Amino acid sequence: MSRKADVVIVGAGVHGCGLAFHLTATDAGSVVVLERGCVASGPTGQSGAMIRPLFDQRVYAELVIASTRMFEQWDQVVGGDAGFVQQGFLRITDSLETAALGGDLEITRFLGEPVEILDRSQLTELVPMARFDDDEKGILFPRGGYADPYQTTVELAAAAVRQGAEILEETEVVGLRTKSGRITGVMTSAGEIATSVVVNCAGPWSGRIAQMAGVPLPIEPQAAPTCLFRKPREMVTVGPVLSDGVHQVYLRAMGDTVYRAAHFGRAEQTLDPDDYDRSVPWVQQKMLREGVAQRYDAMRRAPFLGGFTAVYDMSPDGHPLVGAVDEVEGFWLDCGWSGNGFAPAPAATRSLAARILGQQSEVSLSPFGWPRTSDLGSRLHPDWVHP
Ligand SMILES: Cc1cc2nc3c(=O)[nH]c(=O)nc-3n(C[C@H](O)[C@H](O)[C@H](O)COP(=O)(O)OP(=O)(O)OC[C@H]3O[C@@H](n4cnc5c(N)ncnc54)[C@H](O)[C@@H]3O)c2cc1C
Repeated sequence: MSRKADVVIVGAGVHGCGLAFHLTATDAGSVVVLERGCVASGPTGQSGAMIRPLFDQRVYAELVIASTRMFEQWDQVVGGDAGFVQQGFLRITDSLETAALGGDLEITRFLGEPVEILDRSQLTELVPMARFDDDEKGILFPRGGYADPYQTTVELAAAAVRQGAEILEETEVVGLRTKSGRITGVMTSAGEIATSVVVNCAGPWSGRIAQMAGVPLPIEPQAAPTCLFRKPREMVTVGPVLSDGVHQVYLRAMGDTVYRAAHFGRAEQTLDPDDYDRSVPWVQQKMLREGVAQRYDAMRRAPFLGGFTAVYDMSPDGHPLVGAVDEVEGFWLDCGWSGNGFAPAPAATRSLAARILGQQSEVSLSPFGWPRTSDLGSRLHPDWVHP
């Protein structure tokens, strides 16, 4: 293979495929996505894919709300089915204060997204199998929920291909060519592609890709364990994502009979994304069951169905790195989304595509520029890395 492309995207996760979709929807020329595995074979395929318009920075809320509008009309906008289940997202909390809640309700309301605040009796009616204290409240986002991360990404990829993109699976990027401070090409396991624009959507591997252009990126791959439980009889019900901010653990349905569960945050262990133990250590399984059983007694008896450890691409402040790299012309970043990158992806990649094409973007991604030029506030609180 020796060829040319106007834009080369590294990585076919939800960001790489979303970007290819939006670029090819406009006049971006030839777009090639290089993926060393297959579409959604990275952390995207293991994502909880939960969607909530609750953040303490406006840019995330804007992106998630714009993505939600896309999920609601997926068939018309992208085509096919993203597996979007819009049964709401429920945050259980003992305080409406931003740090305790994991987001600022004023931002959500200001952006016009519906929010319902439920007292204990309303909570008990909605989630009868749970135990609540008097001071606890439920914050229900009725338009939130979750999607199927694999289907979402495969549909974005298919739509991009229909619009003219090429997605080359099992094709690894092994080097980047630069000349006089600009991108000139990409070396792959299947030959070279001449290009003046490369977008790094390689998730936990994005530090390695950036290094190929001589750009140091502080992305740390960190462990993110998830467990699967059979829904006990008492809990077989449809309803919102159950995100318990008090015990810092969530339950989200996978079909009618299985829950996936994980702790918020806790992604402190750095690992090699190519060589690590994918299982969930017993001590973490135990902690997780105890975490969910504090709220839902029936979960003490829920059969354990296994688990997996996936990887977050964590930046020093927990926020993503998105935008052009000043030192190397034509080199762009869209990485470091840690545990928050699925829900914003459909809209974030639309805004990034506009920026790459020199157009006005719908949502300004400048807060995510690297190195940071604007104040994103403090480090994203580690407890809220995960919904
Ligand atoms: C367990 C878990 C639960 C999560 N839950 C949520 C949630 O509920 N809500 C939410 O919003 N977010 C969630 N996230 C975060 C979200 O899933 C990610 O931020 C998002 O999927 C990242 O997508 P991506 O396209 O940036 O990268 P990735 O999915 O990491 O894709 C990167 C791709 O690059 C490829 N690649 C790497 N190196 C090369 C190379 N040299 N050549 C070619 N290809 C290469 C990889 O194979 C991979 O496919 C969760 C993440 C995890 C791990």
